[in-house]
Amino acid sequence: MSSSLKQKHQCLVTPREYDNLGKYKINADFVKFYAQEECYRELMVSYYPMLPLLEHTVPFEEADYILYMHMYARLEDYSDFVAKQLKNIAKQRKSGAEIIVLGKAANAEKLLNGYISNITFWGDHFTEKLGKKFDMDIKEQYFVYDNIEKHLAIWPVDGCLNKCKFCRRSYMEIKFESLSLDTIRANLDIIRLNTPECMKKISIRAENLTEYGIDIYGKPMLHELIYLIDSYDEVEEIEFPIGMCIGEITPQILEALCYSKKITELSMNLETGSDRLLKLIGKKHTCEQAREIFRKVHISNPNVKIFTTIMLGLPTENIGDIWDTAKLIIDTKPDDIHCNYFICSPNLPLAKYPQISNSCREYHLKQFIVFLKELGVNEPYEFTMDCYRFYKRPLSRKIIRKIEELNKDNKYLEKQGLLPEHFVMYFRGRLK
Ligand code: SF4
Repeated sequence: MSSSLKQKHQCLVTPREYDNLGKYKINADFVKFYAQEECYRELMVSYYPMLPLLEHTVPFEEADYILYMHMYARLEDYSDFVAKQLKNIAKQRKSGAEIIVLGKAANAEKLLNGYISNITFWGDHFTEKLGKKFDMDIKEQYFVYDNIEKHLAIWPVDGCLNKCKFCRRSYMEIKFESLSLDTIRANLDIIRLNTPECMKKISIRAENLTEYGIDIYGKPMLHELIYLIDSYDEVEEIEFPIGMCIGEITPQILEALCYSKKITELSMNLETGSDRLLKLIGKKHTCEQAREIFRKVHISNPNVKIFTTIMLGLPTENIGDIWDTAKLIIDTKPDDIHCNYFICSPNLPLAKYPQISNSCREYHLKQFIVFLKELGVNEPYEFTMDCYRFYKRPLSRKIIRKIEELNKDNKYLEKQGLLPEHFVMYFRGRLK
């Protein structure tokens, strides 16, 4: 186990000896290997509580049980790779050994179509299911104090009921499930009683927070959750780093977001500034709604930092869409923009459209930077922008030159770093 994992293990799992583990011959090489690349939720909620089990495993060829986990479709679509790997494992395993596929990778079940025998797929609550199978007291943890980030992370809901056409959710299932407000209150009360200092900063996380409660209460209840967490005197800061779907922010949710002065960070993904493209990719909001929501949050909570994501290179995107996206950025004034290229996989509904070329995509990024500057002429606006590249090609000279020009022209610009060799463009600027 790496030292950072050990550190997490020590902070998250109460060490306990299990004397029954010799009874089971379990191999978990694939879990240990792929879990390192998993998302924060999978690691904190499921993987770390599973560590006591993973410490007592046997080599692959001796195993009666082979545990398998894969990030499957975290940033890219690995469905075919996972199906192929499971077929290979099935061929090479000891006779009679059972394969247990955990988490997102359980989505491969439909691809395998009964091809492998003696295989179990557990997409949800798999740590708890492993605990029951191997007589261990382990299960998912939805309230975790992260002593590195120094926040109490809470996952009040899992899954998402939408199927945006650029998102893995369009071809991947994860059970939608909320924790009740009573459960959340009971857990917070216990934490307040035992370790109130851990409640200072709360990080509320989920793939879709705006749908919180629909399965239990028949309507979204994020606003009630915000009021509940805000009501604890021990809580000084609340952050929402992911999971806020702009088109699902109801008037009640917006009111709660504006009400709580403890909110310091809010992530709301604009994706694009073109209503035509928003419709094409299946987002529920319009640009006007986004403008209104950002405006109200900025006015009522001037200290909240708003993070957003935009995608460039969407099918049918044209230079007018890029202008509109730059305009929306200037109007909504997010503090931090993650600028991603759209990456198409064959399983996405958007794959049916012709995809725009790499050079066109790069031209759009260059123009986006130019438009931001042109549009920011009358109004000073400070922001940070990251442009991640998933393709193994450094940024072109054209783009680097544009960033350099922007840096040079702007006396307020504070250059933080330009690392094309790491496929990341990162700058902090004030447009004026
Ligand atoms: S709301 Fe978010 S998580 Fe849900 S499908 Fe859309 S992009 Fe994916």
